[in-house]
Amino acid sequence: MISSRGTVLRAGGRQLTRVLGGSRPLELNIDLHNKVNCVRTKATESSDSALSCAPPSFMPETRTMYPTLEKLGLLSATHIRIQDMARAEELVTTIVGSGFSKLQIIADYDMTLTRSHVNGERAETSFGIMDNSAQMPAFYREEANKLLAKYYPIEIHPKMTEEEKIPYMIEWYEQIHKLIVKCQVSQESLKGMVSSSNARLRDGTEDLFSKLHSTNVPVLVFSAGMGDILEQVLRHFNVYTDNVKVVSNFFKYNEEGVMVGFKGELVHVFNKNENAIHSSNYFNKLKGRNNVILMGDSLGDIKMAMGVPQPSNVLRIGFLNDKVREVLKHCLLLNLMFIVQEERLEAYMNNFDIVLIDDQTMDVAGSIVGLMK
Ligand SMILES: [Mg+2]
Repeated sequence: MISSRGTVLRAGGRQLTRVLGGSRPLELNIDLHNKVNCVRTKATESSDSALSCAPPSFMPETRTMYPTLEKLGLLSATHIRIQDMARAEELVTTIVGSGFSKLQIIADYDMTLTRSHVNGERAETSFGIMDNSAQMPAFYREEANKLLAKYYPIEIHPKMTEEEKIPYMIEWYEQIHKLIVKCQVSQESLKGMVSSSNARLRDGTEDLFSKLHSTNVPVLVFSAGMGDILEQVLRHFNVYTDNVKVVSNFFKYNEEGVMVGFKGELVHVFNKNENAIHSSNYFNKLKGRNNVILMGDSLGDIKMAMGVPQPSNVLRIGFLNDKVREVLKHCLLLNLMFIVQEERLEAYMNNFDIVLIDDQTMDVAGSIVGLMK
């Protein structure tokens, strides 16, 4: 069994750990009224992060070549990586210049909208809230941990293809879903599970969502996690406004309000694309909104914008949370862990326009939106 301090370790949109002594918090201080500065301000906790965070070595002329990125402070923050600065500059400039009427947001939920750690503990994901809830029976945690130990190494295996992984992911989800059904979870209990959890939105998420609401920008929250739980979290933090649409795995309840299964097609970590939402009325709101700020913390998240009509300008912001290390050290697969960690940063830089290493804020997206008229 994989456990730490009585908590369940899950991953990939599921709960990871609540292991203490985790990553070093990084913060961005952004002054939207004048020049925008991103500064790494804290290094007070010891870090077990395997991810390097060396200062970027941009020359002064680089800064003048990319004035929007410079204005946003993206060239001077040590935890921000941009592989193709010309592309990022063009995308951000276009998105900012086109305004709110052309914009839509597509965001993953677990560890993208939510913090990956809070006060030195891993923050609970939508699965994790349920996993760690005292309202869930002990057999659930035990079985869920066994499934994690079996399937998580497959999910993040660097040599397996996505096609090879998908059948295992479906198998994993189906078994977890059957397990949850056995627990007879009541709809009523979800609110209590959420309010007693340590799930937190990234700092600045409320402000960003408030701005997006007031400017009528559609926000799609696309999650392979647990829809009922994450909706409750969004409500809890007052960001579930009428411009926000959630696509995820939702419970089916019986007349007594007891969960008896799941609705619709399974959304798992490798099928988060337009297929899940094409039939939705939500698409009616998106006409002419070909500028997208996409945010995710998994490589699979970049597919979330596949349904956006072309031509489009999709700015992909990737949160690189140091989650693999913590899970795998409990799986005793250390060699795999180091291979994965080495390859992750490179892969993220190849796939996301802006990579944020252990950034617990929403300040980069917030600062881009802050420049818009
Ligand atoms: Mg995620």
